[in-house]
Amino acid sequence: MTKHSIETPKEKQNRHKAMEAINTINTMKDEFKNPIAAMDAFYELYEDVYCKQKALHEDAIKVGTMCIQIPSEIIYAFDAVPIRLCNGFYTDDDIGSDLLPQKACPLVKATVGHFASGNFSDKPHFVYSPTTCDQKTKAGATIEGFGYEVIDVDFPRMKESEISREYFRQSIREFTVDLSRRIGKKLTRKRLKNAVHKIGYAQSLYHKLCEYRKKEHVTISGNDMFFITNAFFFDKIDSWTEKTQRVLEELKQREKENITVAAKVSPRIVYTGSPPIFPNYKIPMLIEQSDAVIVADETCSSNRMFNDMVAVDEWNIYGMLDSIADKYLKACTCPIFTKNDDRIRRIIDLVKTYSADGVVYQAFAGCTVYELEQRSVLEAMEKAGIPILYLESDYSPSQGGQLSTRVEAFIESLKMKKRKQG
Ligand code: SF4
Ligand code: SF4
Repeated sequence: MTKHSIETPKEKQNRHKAMEAINTINTMKDEFKNPIAAMDAFYELYEDVYCKQKALHEDAIKVGTMCIQIPSEIIYAFDAVPIRLCNGFYTDDDIGSDLLPQKACPLVKATVGHFASGNFSDKPHFVYSPTTCDQKTKAGATIEGFGYEVIDVDFPRMKESEISREYFRQSIREFTVDLSRRIGKKLTRKRLKNAVHKIGYAQSLYHKLCEYRKKEHVTISGNDMFFITNAFFFDKIDSWTEKTQRVLEELKQREKENITVAAKVSPRIVYTGSPPIFPNYKIPMLIEQSDAVIVADETCSSNRMFNDMVAVDEWNIYGMLDSIADKYLKACTCPIFTKNDDRIRRIIDLVKTYSADGVVYQAFAGCTVYELEQRSVLEAMEKAGIPILYLESDYSPSQGGQLSTRVEAFIESLKMKKRKQG
């Protein structure tokens, strides 16, 4: 834009999004102690994509995914690139608010708002939408109204039954056939096997990062972990693994030099609920600005993407596709399922494994399933003697004061408990 030209609505939206992005990046760089130098490569990536609108995958076929439940392994096996479209921008949420009910989930409104504005640095050629939560399922039709092709992928609502397992296996086979037709390539055993290994390697790096979070002296913050895992939504996978390896090398060195991101008395937190998606790290930032440290999470924008690996029995195409389908269904602890005991088991397991002092449960206002499931999670934590704070939040920048009072009070109570225990 020249000095005297009038800003178009699209330029204005891009400017607002760039401001949101840079605010989150700068907070991370300036307000936390002992920053990790290797994280700069991740911050630059976010600046390139969200402030400079740099395309990362110009020549590739970009396959948009509306939720974690579309297997990236299969997309990579066709030499295409998965772009996860879950969105964390308030600017896009605001646009989406004119198109969906005001009370809808901000993540869904922001995703729809993003399509309405069309300001993609890497625009998807078509979009797959699993029938997970109601709001995502219904958002597909609105997105189609902006000229995008949205293909539904059947997803069961009962997790444990054999019928669901077979149903999702069939659904994944149909998705694969559809993707093959659209891309004009045949799936080969070798390509699929390579893709399973590629994602498996990325997951192994995530697990190595997590080992550092289990230790008494934590060398990486929860917010930096969200930066790393959220970049997997859109980054080039080889570039992501390189950057993550450099972070791991630095963590190794920091451990030797005893450089930590939290004091011994800082409460260790497991984060669960509606997913933190860049740049909406409002609650994770509040937690770590209040002198606690997020040591683990149970969210679909981080842990759930990497935790469980595909376990293949037979390395033929159908064997691999079935194993991929099983992994995606079994590993999902999203509250869209009728029964979701796995989620409670996982949270308790994370608290034990990461020696956490408490749990913070965030539900986006308008996300009925996370709001509904809080009761059973709160009861289970109480029974297990684990302190938990439940918060409702949205993407608006104006909610800070009230939330920070509650977060600070919770962290302070955990600190007092820690001090008493010596
Ligand atoms: S919260 Fe559930 S439905 Fe929404 S993106 Fe995550 S896994 Fe999918
Ligand atoms: S936060 Fe809730 S409403 Fe939003 S995508 Fe996830 S499950 Fe759906």
